[in-house]
Amino acid sequence: MERIKVVVIGSGPAGYTAAIYASRANLSPLLYEGFFSGVAGGQLMTTTDVENYPGFPEGISGPSLMESFRKQAQRFGTQILTEDVNEVDFSKYPYFIKGHTRSVLADSVIIATGATAKRLDIAGAGEGEGGFWQKGVTACAVCDGAMPIFRNKDLYVIGGGDSAMEESLYLTKFGSKVYIVHRRDALRASKIMQERVLNHPKIEVLWDSEIISIEGDQVVRQVTTLNHKSGKQEKREAGGVFFAVGHIPNTAFLKGQIALHDNGYVKVKPGTSETNVELVFAAGDVQDHVYRQAVTAAGSGCMAAIEAERMLSLRGLLG
Ligand code: NAP
Repeated sequence: MERIKVVVIGSGPAGYTAAIYASRANLSPLLYEGFFSGVAGGQLMTTTDVENYPGFPEGISGPSLMESFRKQAQRFGTQILTEDVNEVDFSKYPYFIKGHTRSVLADSVIIATGATAKRLDIAGAGEGEGGFWQKGVTACAVCDGAMPIFRNKDLYVIGGGDSAMEESLYLTKFGSKVYIVHRRDALRASKIMQERVLNHPKIEVLWDSEIISIEGDQVVRQVTTLNHKSGKQEKREAGGVFFAVGHIPNTAFLKGQIALHDNGYVKVKPGTSETNVELVFAAGDVQDHVYRQAVTAAGSGCMAAIEAERMLSLRGLLG
């Protein structure tokens, strides 16, 4: 079976950046960019304008940014496979990487499979006909909140955790009013974030509530909320709905091969991308449930490639 020095699994900013660095270091990386598991290119592929990635003062669309990352990785010789990794075996060295059609042995592995923002199955929130996904419904206020369609509109954030608080506060810059729709009567978020939100003049919490439908024309115009305690349904003007109900790290394929936190994210040695398995590194959202930004993911992809090269060199595997 073919033996590869660096196998990168995943194709968001972390995976492509790891591949750019590894290929420039002449390590001829092989990158599995995924296929059935989600969109190659990661979460930015479903984002419209990216305005906070440094170097693009006018902003850039998520897919264009990812296409540039991809080309840059290829320019230096990264081999890209448009398929998923279904299984890995880290119990024997070199490590076995089982792709959908092509399997290889790897001297080092960089896991950069990201996380998927959870979405709720609400009428009108989907992607197909009659759905407003990316037409006012999104799962990332920081990515999408500054879009013109949200300006001076009533915006709805679903969730009661720190993400919901952070996103609501961020959205106050754009919306006329921000409603947090939370299913319970108490927030899960940290005290400090709760205080900021509860004291903010532009934010109101709709307790014990959910959104049961989203309506509009080209974009979102209205939501219907349901209060569980009173049973009351209300139609409300709305310009946007933001899911902040958590993320799921894409680690299912690792199946116990590597140490994970209780929430499913890969454990790395603090300040590094090293996992508990030697020569297996993790970068990007798959190991980061705090920052979750393209730029931090890219930075950690760079770290993983540099650490992989150093470790391969120490082990005399670069010859
Ligand atoms: P989270 O803490 O898991 O909160 C998710 C929220 O979504 C919860 O309030 C939950 O409600 C709600 N939710 C989940 N499923 C739902 C459903 N089906 N319908 C309606 N509501 C639903 O996730 P997170 O806010 O993304 O935070 C993840 C981690 O990152 C946390 O450790 C957080 O502290 C951290 N974080 C930190 C910061 C910061 O410090 N600035 C910012 C963002 C995130 P219940 O409360 O009823 O379960």
